[in-house]
Amino acid sequence: MTQWLETCRKVYNYALGERRDWIKSRKCDINACSLHSEYIIAVDAPKPTYYQQKRNLTAARKVILTIGAVHSQVLQDVMGRLEKAFNALWNSGHGFPRFKKRFRSFTFPQLGKAPIGERTIKLPSIGEVTATLHRPIPDGFEAKQARVVRRPSGWYVQLILESNIEVPDIIPGGYPIGIDVGLNSFVATSEGELIARPRFFIEAQHRLKGLNRAVSRKKNGSQNQQKARKKVARFYERIANRRTDFHRKTAHHLCDRAGMVFAEELNLKGLAKGMLGKHCLDAGWGEFLDTLSWVAWKRGVYFSKVSASGTSQECPACGASVKKDLSVRVHHCPECKYETDRDVASGQVIRNRGLTTVGHIVYAERSRSVDACGAEPVGVAMKQETSRAILGSPRSTR
Ligand SMILES: [Zn+2]
Repeated sequence: MTQWLETCRKVYNYALGERRDWIKSRKCDINACSLHSEYIIAVDAPKPTYYQQKRNLTAARKVILTIGAVHSQVLQDVMGRLEKAFNALWNSGHGFPRFKKRFRSFTFPQLGKAPIGERTIKLPSIGEVTATLHRPIPDGFEAKQARVVRRPSGWYVQLILESNIEVPDIIPGGYPIGIDVGLNSFVATSEGELIARPRFFIEAQHRLKGLNRAVSRKKNGSQNQQKARKKVARFYERIANRRTDFHRKTAHHLCDRAGMVFAEELNLKGLAKGMLGKHCLDAGWGEFLDTLSWVAWKRGVYFSKVSASGTSQECPACGASVKKDLSVRVHHCPECKYETDRDVASGQVIRNRGLTTVGHIVYAERSRSVDACGAEPVGVAMKQETSRAILGSPRSTR
């Protein structure tokens, strides 16, 4: 499988190189050619496309043994990955695809009949492999695709299951909450709950320093150095696992008490650039919101994102603009005297905006003061009613 990964990587880089050279050969102005060298590809040479490269691949399999050794559909999927990368460049403004230094995974787009045994999985052309099933395949589902991933702790298979059940779209309804992600607390909800920011990475830095020191102490290129390197890689994997675990648990926690969850649209690039970059990336908000949207879908909770502009400068109770910079931790409205934690106030503004987009009642905070940390759940009162409103009480906690 390690050899397969390497072959996949080479095929990917070769196909990317072909496309890149062709693009470069067409781009240069005649009066701006380099004096030394320039890509020259014949004028009538066809542009390398997805389908053409796939055909070339089939021909190459017969000539080059290492390529022939890899299952054909796996290599076709590699071409699909490259095509996806170019589509991202053309359609979504992503950067030019890069050459890969390493490949971590390959995909079988099709599996044979009954590929999952009690303790085994049957992979095309590799054969039966012993595996630990994390959980049984649910009834009525069939494994359709498998992605084989190499991680520092071992090899993993991710399965895509298929079933012909139709899942209806989630209709907005139920108890609404808005969440604000921030630096002081990882998540602040419109209910006044503050979830602390995980500090895995910062805490792990110390340990990481020690492990990296161990690598540099060993003789260059020695077996022992490789062992030490492996330890570092495994530690990174562990941090990633802990973060994912935290994200999932938090997402379920939020879905436990809501029928609708609203979050803000994040401007991650701008955030990470600032001096708080390291902390921002550690918190992994983008990843969290992705997890949340998927957990919400699974739990039948409506999830949507709203515009984030000025959420911290608005009063959730009366809508007045209340200017405050980052150091001001408490929202205090001079108009209606509403007072709560700054992040909680943002959460409430986000919830109100979300409710407007789905056409539900706009909630208004009762004008009363709560303690500065906003830990006490805030009472809610209705401001205007529409006939479409179906609002339930908070779901009971599991
Ligand atoms: Zn106000």
